[in-house]
Amino acid sequence: MKQTIAPVRPAHTAREARYDLRGPLAERAADLQTRGHDIIDLHLGDPAAHGLNAPDTVLRAAAEGLHRAAAYSDERGLPAAREAIADHYRQAGLVHATADRVFLGNGVSELASLSLQALLDPGDTLLVPAPGYPLWPACATLTGATAVPYLCREDTAWAPDPAELAARTGSRTRAIVVINPGNPTGAHWPPAVLESIVDLARRHHLMLLSDEIYAELCYPGTTHVPLAALAPDVPCLTFGGLSKFCRLPGYRAGWAVASGPRSATADYLQALTLLAGLRMCPNVPAQHAIPTALSPDVLASTRRATAPGGTLTLCRDALHSALTLHPGVRCARPDGAFYTFPRLPLPPAVDDKAFTRHLLERHHVLATPGAQFDAPGSTHIRLSALAPPETLDIAAQRIHQALGEFAAAEAPSAGEQDG
Ligand code: PLP
Repeated sequence: MKQTIAPVRPAHTAREARYDLRGPLAERAADLQTRGHDIIDLHLGDPAAHGLNAPDTVLRAAAEGLHRAAAYSDERGLPAAREAIADHYRQAGLVHATADRVFLGNGVSELASLSLQALLDPGDTLLVPAPGYPLWPACATLTGATAVPYLCREDTAWAPDPAELAARTGSRTRAIVVINPGNPTGAHWPPAVLESIVDLARRHHLMLLSDEIYAELCYPGTTHVPLAALAPDVPCLTFGGLSKFCRLPGYRAGWAVASGPRSATADYLQALTLLAGLRMCPNVPAQHAIPTALSPDVLASTRRATAPGGTLTLCRDALHSALTLHPGVRCARPDGAFYTFPRLPLPPAVDDKAFTRHLLERHHVLATPGAQFDAPGSTHIRLSALAPPETLDIAAQRIHQALGEFAAAEAPSAGEQDG
Protein backbone atom coordinates (compact mmCIF):
# COMPACT_ATOMS: atom_id res chain seq x y z
CA MET A 1 0.00 0.00 0.00
CA LYS A 2 1.25 3.47 -0.86
CA GLN A 3 2.11 5.41 2.26
CA THR A 4 0.80 8.99 2.48
CA ILE A 5 3.54 11.41 3.30
CA ALA A 6 2.58 13.99 5.87
CA PRO A 7 3.21 17.62 4.94
CA VAL A 8 6.44 19.02 6.33
CA ARG A 9 5.55 21.35 9.19
CA PRO A 10 7.67 24.48 9.33
CA ALA A 11 8.93 25.67 12.69
CA HIS A 12 6.51 27.73 14.72
CA THR A 13 8.94 30.66 14.67
CA ALA A 14 9.21 30.54 10.87
CA ARG A 15 5.42 30.62 10.58
CA GLU A 16 5.24 33.58 12.93
CA ALA A 17 7.92 35.67 11.22
CA ARG A 18 6.61 38.30 8.79
CA TYR A 19 8.50 39.59 5.78
CA ASP A 20 6.29 40.39 2.80
CA LEU A 21 8.49 42.76 0.81
CA ARG A 22 8.90 40.28 -2.01
CA GLY A 23 5.31 39.14 -1.77
CA PRO A 24 2.38 38.73 -4.15
CA LEU A 25 2.34 42.37 -5.32
CA ALA A 26 5.91 42.17 -6.63
CA GLU A 27 5.10 38.81 -8.22
CA ARG A 28 2.07 40.31 -9.95
CA ALA A 29 4.23 43.19 -11.23
CA ALA A 30 6.72 40.68 -12.67
CA ASP A 31 3.82 38.84 -14.28
CA LEU A 32 2.47 42.05 -15.85
CA GLN A 33 5.95 42.83 -17.11
CA THR A 34 6.31 39.45 -18.80
CA ARG A 35 3.00 40.16 -20.53
CA GLY A 36 4.57 43.26 -22.04
CA HIS A 37 3.35 46.01 -19.68
CA ASP A 38 5.73 48.76 -18.67
CA ILE A 39 5.77 48.93 -14.89
CA ILE A 40 7.16 51.91 -12.99
CA ASP A 41 8.90 50.14 -10.15
CA LEU A 42 9.08 52.20 -6.96
CA HIS A 43 9.13 49.14 -4.79
CA LEU A 44 12.54 47.91 -3.70
CA GLY A 45 15.42 50.06 -2.53
CA ASP A 46 17.82 48.72 -5.13
CA PRO A 47 19.86 51.48 -6.76
CA ALA A 48 21.63 49.06 -9.11
CA ALA A 49 18.30 47.87 -10.52
CA HIS A 50 17.60 51.49 -11.47
CA GLY A 51 20.85 51.81 -13.41
CA LEU A 52 22.69 53.75 -10.69
CA ASN A 53 26.01 52.03 -11.18
CA ALA A 54 28.78 51.50 -8.66
CA PRO A 55 31.98 53.49 -9.24
CA ASP A 56 34.33 51.79 -11.72
CA THR A 57 37.19 51.78 -9.23
CA VAL A 58 35.16 49.64 -6.85
CA LEU A 59 34.20 47.19 -9.59
CA ARG A 60 37.86 46.95 -10.64
CA ALA A 61 38.95 46.30 -7.04
CA ALA A 62 36.39 43.49 -6.82
CA ALA A 63 37.51 42.04 -10.20
CA GLU A 64 41.16 42.11 -9.20
CA GLY A 65 40.31 40.56 -5.84
CA LEU A 66 38.49 37.69 -7.50
CA HIS A 67 41.83 35.97 -8.17
CA ARG A 68 42.58 35.99 -4.44
CA ALA A 69 39.12 34.99 -3.28
CA ALA A 70 39.03 31.23 -3.63
CA ALA A 71 39.82 30.32 -0.03
CA TYR A 72 37.67 30.83 3.07
CA SER A 73 38.53 34.02 4.93
CA ASP A 74 38.66 34.54 8.69
CA GLU A 75 35.15 33.94 10.04
CA ARG A 76 34.82 37.70 10.67
CA GLY A 77 36.08 38.58 7.17
CA LEU A 78 39.31 39.64 5.45
CA PRO A 79 41.66 41.67 7.69
CA ALA A 80 42.18 44.36 5.03
CA ALA A 81 38.42 44.92 4.69
CA ARG A 82 37.95 45.00 8.47
CA GLU A 83 40.83 47.49 8.83
CA ALA A 84 39.26 49.76 6.21
CA ILE A 85 35.90 49.64 8.01
CA ALA A 86 37.45 50.35 11.43
CA ASP A 87 39.34 53.28 9.95
CA HIS A 88 36.16 54.62 8.34
CA TYR A 89 34.30 54.57 11.67
CA ARG A 90 37.21 56.11 13.58
CA GLN A 91 37.03 59.03 11.19
CA ALA A 92 33.26 59.22 11.67
CA GLY A 93 33.69 59.69 15.42
CA LEU A 94 33.81 56.13 16.74
CA VAL A 95 37.34 56.75 17.96
CA HIS A 96 37.94 53.32 19.51
CA ALA A 97 36.82 51.24 16.50
CA THR A 98 39.26 48.40 15.84
CA ALA A 99 39.38 45.71 13.18
CA ASP A 100 39.19 42.87 15.70
CA ARG A 101 35.65 43.98 16.58
CA VAL A 102 34.43 44.23 12.97
CA PHE A 103 32.32 41.38 11.55
CA LEU A 104 31.57 41.08 7.87
CA GLY A 105 28.51 39.33 6.53
CA ASN A 106 26.44 38.65 3.47
CA GLY A 107 24.71 41.98 3.82
CA VAL A 108 23.32 43.60 6.95
CA SER A 109 20.54 41.04 6.54
CA GLU A 110 22.74 38.12 7.53
CA LEU A 111 24.38 40.08 10.34
CA ALA A 112 21.00 41.10 11.77
CA SER A 113 20.14 37.43 11.99
CA LEU A 114 23.49 36.40 13.50
CA SER A 115 23.60 39.26 15.99
CA LEU A 116 20.11 38.49 17.28
CA GLN A 117 20.73 34.74 17.45
CA ALA A 118 23.76 35.50 19.61
CA LEU A 119 21.73 37.81 21.86
CA LEU A 120 18.15 36.68 22.33
CA ASP A 121 16.55 33.81 24.20
CA PRO A 122 12.91 32.78 23.79
CA GLY A 123 10.85 35.17 25.91
CA ASP A 124 13.25 38.09 25.56
CA THR A 125 12.06 41.26 23.89
CA LEU A 126 13.66 43.55 21.33
CA LEU A 127 12.52 47.15 20.84
CA VAL A 128 12.06 47.92 17.14
CA PRO A 129 10.94 51.14 15.45
CA ALA A 130 7.48 51.26 13.84
CA PRO A 131 7.21 52.02 11.04
CA GLY A 132 10.51 50.26 10.44
CA TYR A 133 12.33 47.78 8.28
CA PRO A 134 10.75 44.31 8.79
CA LEU A 135 14.08 42.44 8.79
CA TRP A 136 14.65 43.19 12.48
CA PRO A 137 11.31 41.97 13.91
CA ALA A 138 11.42 38.93 11.60
CA CYS A 139 14.90 37.92 12.81
CA ALA A 140 13.85 38.46 16.43
CA THR A 141 10.79 36.25 15.95
CA LEU A 142 12.97 33.50 14.47
CA THR A 143 14.91 33.32 17.75
CA GLY A 144 11.69 32.80 19.73
CA ALA A 145 11.93 36.31 21.18
CA THR A 146 9.31 39.04 20.70
CA ALA A 147 9.80 42.26 18.79
CA VAL A 148 8.10 45.12 20.63
CA PRO A 149 7.39 48.08 18.34
CA TYR A 150 7.99 51.64 19.51
CA LEU A 151 6.10 54.26 17.61
CA CYS A 152 7.83 56.77 15.36
CA ARG A 153 5.45 59.69 15.09
CA GLU A 154 4.53 61.40 11.89
CA ASP A 155 3.86 64.68 13.73
CA THR A 156 7.49 64.75 14.90
CA ALA A 157 8.94 63.97 11.45
CA TRP A 158 8.91 60.26 12.27
CA ALA A 159 11.09 60.49 15.38
CA PRO A 160 10.08 58.32 18.34
CA ASP A 161 8.88 59.69 21.66
CA PRO A 162 11.58 58.75 24.22
CA ALA A 163 8.94 58.49 26.99
CA GLU A 164 6.99 55.90 24.98
CA LEU A 165 10.17 54.00 24.30
CA ALA A 166 10.94 53.94 28.02
CA ALA A 167 7.41 52.74 28.78
CA ARG A 168 7.89 49.76 26.46
CA THR A 169 11.09 48.64 28.15
CA GLY A 170 10.53 45.61 30.38
CA SER A 171 12.54 43.20 32.49
CA ARG A 172 13.14 40.92 29.46
CA THR A 173 14.13 43.71 27.06
CA ARG A 174 17.64 43.07 25.73
CA ALA A 175 18.27 45.66 23.04
CA ILE A 176 16.98 48.65 21.10
CA VAL A 177 17.10 48.67 17.31
CA VAL A 178 17.65 52.10 15.78
CA ILE A 179 17.41 52.62 12.00
CA ASN A 180 18.88 55.98 11.14
CA PRO A 181 18.33 57.31 8.49
CA GLY A 182 15.12 55.33 8.47
CA ASN A 183 13.45 52.92 6.14
CA PRO A 184 10.61 53.47 5.16
CA THR A 185 10.41 57.08 6.35
CA GLY A 186 13.78 58.54 5.29
CA ALA A 187 13.80 60.34 8.66
CA HIS A 188 17.03 61.25 10.41
CA TRP A 189 16.44 61.51 14.15
CA PRO A 190 17.60 64.61 16.01
CA PRO A 191 20.57 64.36 18.42
CA ALA A 192 18.31 64.88 21.49
CA VAL A 193 16.23 61.80 20.59
CA LEU A 194 19.37 59.73 19.98
CA GLU A 195 20.83 60.88 23.31
CA SER A 196 17.70 59.78 25.15
CA ILE A 197 17.80 56.37 23.47
CA VAL A 198 21.43 55.99 24.56
CA ASP A 199 20.49 57.04 28.07
CA LEU A 200 17.67 54.48 28.19
CA ALA A 201 20.06 51.75 27.04
CA ARG A 202 22.60 52.84 29.66
CA ARG A 203 20.06 52.80 32.51
CA HIS A 204 18.51 49.45 31.58
CA HIS A 205 21.69 47.66 30.45
CA LEU A 206 20.39 47.23 26.92
CA MET A 207 22.47 46.71 23.85
CA LEU A 208 22.16 49.21 20.99
CA LEU A 209 21.74 47.77 17.49
CA SER A 210 22.13 50.67 15.12
CA ASP A 211 21.27 49.95 11.50
CA GLU A 212 23.03 52.76 9.63
CA ILE A 213 23.03 51.28 6.15
CA TYR A 214 21.89 54.69 4.83
CA ALA A 215 24.46 56.71 6.84
CA GLU A 216 26.25 57.97 3.73
CA LEU A 217 22.97 58.99 2.11
CA CYS A 218 21.95 62.15 3.95
CA TYR A 219 20.54 65.16 2.11
CA PRO A 220 21.66 68.79 2.50
CA GLY A 221 21.16 70.04 6.04
CA THR A 222 21.51 66.63 7.68
CA THR A 223 24.76 65.44 9.23
CA HIS A 224 25.09 61.86 10.34
CA VAL A 225 27.03 60.81 13.42
CA PRO A 226 27.09 57.10 14.30
CA LEU A 227 24.92 56.40 17.34
CA ALA A 228 27.84 54.51 18.87
CA ALA A 229 29.89 57.72 18.89
CA LEU A 230 27.34 59.13 21.36
CA ALA A 231 27.52 55.97 23.47
CA PRO A 232 31.15 54.95 24.06
CA ASP A 233 30.15 53.33 27.38
CA VAL A 234 27.22 51.28 25.99
CA PRO A 235 27.58 47.95 24.13
CA CYS A 236 26.62 48.68 20.57
CA LEU A 237 26.71 47.12 17.11
CA THR A 238 26.70 49.53 14.17
CA PHE A 239 25.58 48.04 10.85
CA GLY A 240 26.52 49.25 7.38
CA GLY A 241 27.44 47.91 3.97
CA LEU A 242 27.87 48.38 0.25
CA SER A 243 24.26 47.76 -0.78
CA LYS A 244 23.00 51.32 -0.74
CA PHE A 245 25.68 54.02 -0.83
CA CYS A 246 27.92 52.01 -3.14
CA ARG A 247 24.97 50.70 -5.19
CA LEU A 248 26.11 47.06 -4.88
CA PRO A 249 23.31 45.13 -3.15
CA GLY A 250 24.05 42.04 -5.19
CA TYR A 251 27.56 41.80 -3.75
CA ARG A 252 26.09 40.99 -0.34
CA ALA A 253 28.77 42.90 1.56
CA GLY A 254 27.75 44.24 4.95
CA TRP A 255 29.38 44.77 8.33
CA ALA A 256 28.74 45.12 12.04
CA VAL A 257 31.15 47.14 14.17
CA ALA A 258 31.13 46.40 17.89
CA SER A 259 31.83 49.14 20.41
CA GLY A 260 31.43 49.78 24.13
CA PRO A 261 33.50 48.51 27.03
CA ARG A 262 35.48 45.41 26.06
CA SER A 263 34.75 43.76 29.41
CA ALA A 264 31.01 44.13 28.77
CA THR A 265 31.03 42.85 25.18
CA ALA A 266 33.62 40.02 25.34
CA ASP A 267 31.21 37.10 26.00
CA TYR A 268 28.67 38.35 23.49
CA LEU A 269 31.31 38.79 20.78
CA GLN A 270 32.61 35.30 21.47
CA ALA A 271 29.09 33.96 20.81
CA LEU A 272 28.86 36.09 17.67
CA THR A 273 32.25 34.76 16.50
CA LEU A 274 30.99 31.22 16.95
CA LEU A 275 27.92 31.93 14.82
CA ALA A 276 30.07 33.71 12.23
CA GLY A 277 32.22 30.57 12.06
CA LEU A 278 29.23 28.29 11.54
CA ARG A 279 28.69 29.89 8.15
CA MET A 280 32.49 29.54 7.58
CA CYS A 281 32.99 33.14 6.41
CA PRO A 282 31.26 35.91 4.51
CA ASN A 283 31.27 36.01 0.72
CA VAL A 284 34.98 36.60 0.01
CA PRO A 285 35.03 38.16 -3.51
CA ALA A 286 32.88 41.10 -2.42
CA GLN A 287 35.13 41.85 0.53
CA HIS A 288 37.93 42.87 -1.83
CA ALA A 289 35.80 45.82 -2.92
CA ILE A 290 35.42 47.26 0.59
CA PRO A 291 38.70 49.22 1.05
CA THR A 292 38.14 51.00 -2.28
CA ALA A 293 34.44 51.54 -1.55
CA LEU A 294 35.40 53.36 1.64
CA SER A 295 38.16 55.42 0.00
CA PRO A 296 37.82 59.24 0.01
CA ASP A 297 37.12 59.37 -3.74
CA VAL A 298 34.22 56.96 -3.64
CA LEU A 299 32.71 58.52 -0.52
CA ALA A 300 32.99 61.91 -2.22
CA SER A 301 31.09 60.58 -5.26
CA THR A 302 28.23 59.52 -2.97
CA ARG A 303 28.27 62.92 -1.28
CA ARG A 304 27.94 64.53 -4.70
CA ALA A 305 24.81 62.44 -5.37
CA THR A 306 23.17 63.72 -2.16
CA ALA A 307 24.45 67.33 -2.40
CA PRO A 308 22.21 70.12 -3.72
CA GLY A 309 21.57 69.33 -7.40
CA GLY A 310 22.97 65.77 -7.01
CA THR A 311 21.24 62.80 -8.68
CA LEU A 312 19.59 61.46 -5.55
CA THR A 313 18.65 64.89 -4.21
CA LEU A 314 16.94 65.67 -7.52
CA CYS A 315 15.02 62.37 -7.33
CA ARG A 316 13.95 63.01 -3.74
CA ASP A 317 12.82 66.55 -4.53
CA ALA A 318 11.04 65.56 -7.74
CA LEU A 319 8.99 62.86 -6.04
CA HIS A 320 8.24 64.87 -2.92
CA SER A 321 7.11 67.99 -4.76
CA ALA A 322 5.08 66.07 -7.35
CA LEU A 323 3.29 64.02 -4.68
CA THR A 324 2.43 66.98 -2.49
CA LEU A 325 0.79 68.83 -5.39
CA HIS A 326 -2.26 66.85 -4.28
CA PRO A 327 -3.80 68.79 -1.39
CA GLY A 328 -4.72 65.63 0.53
CA VAL A 329 -1.30 63.97 0.45
CA ARG A 330 0.81 64.46 3.61
CA CYS A 331 4.48 63.74 3.30
CA ALA A 332 7.53 64.73 5.36
CA ARG A 333 10.49 65.49 3.10
CA PRO A 334 13.04 62.72 3.72
CA ASP A 335 16.37 63.67 5.35
CA GLY A 336 18.18 60.58 4.13
CA ALA A 337 17.96 57.18 2.38
CA PHE A 338 15.93 57.09 -0.83
CA TYR A 339 12.36 56.49 0.22
CA THR A 340 9.32 58.71 0.48
CA PHE A 341 6.51 57.71 2.79
CA PRO A 342 3.34 59.66 2.01
CA ARG A 343 0.05 59.40 3.86
CA LEU A 344 -2.77 59.23 1.35
CA PRO A 345 -6.32 60.54 1.69
CA LEU A 346 -8.00 57.15 1.26
CA PRO A 347 -11.70 56.56 1.85
CA PRO A 348 -12.41 54.49 5.00
CA ALA A 349 -13.12 51.31 3.01
CA VAL A 350 -9.80 51.42 1.15
CA ASP A 351 -6.53 50.57 2.84
CA ASP A 352 -2.92 50.81 1.69
CA LYS A 353 -2.99 47.24 0.35
CA ALA A 354 -6.11 47.80 -1.74
CA PHE A 355 -4.67 51.07 -3.02
CA THR A 356 -1.31 49.60 -4.06
CA ARG A 357 -3.08 46.71 -5.79
CA HIS A 358 -5.27 49.15 -7.74
CA LEU A 359 -2.25 51.35 -8.53
CA LEU A 360 -0.44 48.38 -10.00
CA GLU A 361 -3.34 46.85 -11.92
CA ARG A 362 -4.76 50.08 -13.33
CA HIS A 363 -1.80 52.44 -13.46
CA HIS A 364 1.18 50.11 -13.63
CA VAL A 365 3.01 51.66 -10.71
CA LEU A 366 4.49 49.30 -8.14
CA ALA A 367 4.57 50.78 -4.62
CA THR A 368 4.79 49.13 -1.21
CA PRO A 369 1.91 49.25 1.31
CA GLY A 370 2.88 50.91 4.60
CA ALA A 371 1.47 47.89 6.46
CA GLN A 372 4.58 45.96 5.47
CA PHE A 373 6.56 48.32 7.70
CA ASP A 374 4.10 48.30 10.58
CA ALA A 375 2.88 51.80 9.73
CA PRO A 376 0.05 53.29 11.75
CA GLY A 377 -3.40 53.63 10.16
CA SER A 378 -3.07 51.70 6.84
CA THR A 379 -2.96 54.79 4.64
CA HIS A 380 0.77 55.11 3.95
CA ILE A 381 2.73 53.78 1.02
CA ARG A 382 6.48 53.60 0.51
CA LEU A 383 7.97 54.79 -2.74
CA SER A 384 11.64 54.50 -3.58
CA ALA A 385 12.91 57.61 -5.32
CA LEU A 386 15.53 56.02 -7.55
CA ALA A 387 13.97 56.32 -11.00
CA PRO A 388 14.71 59.43 -13.12
CA PRO A 389 12.81 62.59 -11.99
CA GLU A 390 10.57 62.51 -15.12
CA THR A 391 9.49 58.95 -14.28
CA LEU A 392 8.87 59.88 -10.65
CA ASP A 393 6.72 62.76 -11.82
CA ILE A 394 4.63 60.42 -13.98
CA ALA A 395 4.29 58.00 -11.08
CA ALA A 396 3.04 60.81 -8.80
CA GLN A 397 0.47 61.83 -11.43
CA ARG A 398 -0.78 58.24 -11.62
CA ILE A 399 -1.03 58.09 -7.83
CA HIS A 400 -3.14 61.25 -7.95
CA GLN A 401 -5.34 59.72 -10.66
CA ALA A 402 -5.84 56.60 -8.56
CA LEU A 403 -6.75 58.74 -5.55
CA GLY A 404 -9.25 60.58 -7.75
CA GLU A 405 -10.83 57.28 -8.83
CA PHE A 406 -11.30 56.15 -5.23
CA ALA A 407 -12.65 59.56 -4.23
CA ALA A 408 -15.13 59.50 -7.15
CA ALA A 409 -16.30 55.99 -6.23
CA GLU A 410 -16.82 57.17 -2.66
CA ALA A 411 -18.64 60.43 -3.47
CA PRO A 412 -22.44 60.24 -3.14
CA SER A 413 -24.20 60.26 -6.50
CA ALA A 414 -26.40 63.28 -7.47
CA GLY A 415 -29.54 61.24 -6.69
CA GLU A 416 -28.28 60.34 -3.22
CA GLN A 417 -27.43 63.97 -2.52
CA ASP A 418 -30.96 65.09 -3.50
CA GLY A 419 -32.49 62.44 -1.27
N1 PLP B 1 18.65 47.54 6.81
C1 PLP B 1 17.81 48.41 6.24
C2 PLP B 1 17.24 49.53 7.04
C3 PLP B 1 17.46 48.25 4.89
O1 PLP B 1 16.61 49.12 4.32
C4 PLP B 1 18.00 47.18 4.15
C5 PLP B 1 17.62 46.95 2.74
O2 PLP B 1 16.75 47.58 2.18
C6 PLP B 1 18.88 46.31 4.81
C7 PLP B 1 19.19 46.52 6.13
C8 PLP B 1 19.47 45.13 4.09
O3 PLP B 1 20.76 45.45 3.69
P1 PLP B 1 21.76 44.39 3.01
O4 PLP B 1 21.59 44.51 1.55
O5 PLP B 1 23.10 44.86 3.48
O6 PLP B 1 21.40 43.06 3.55
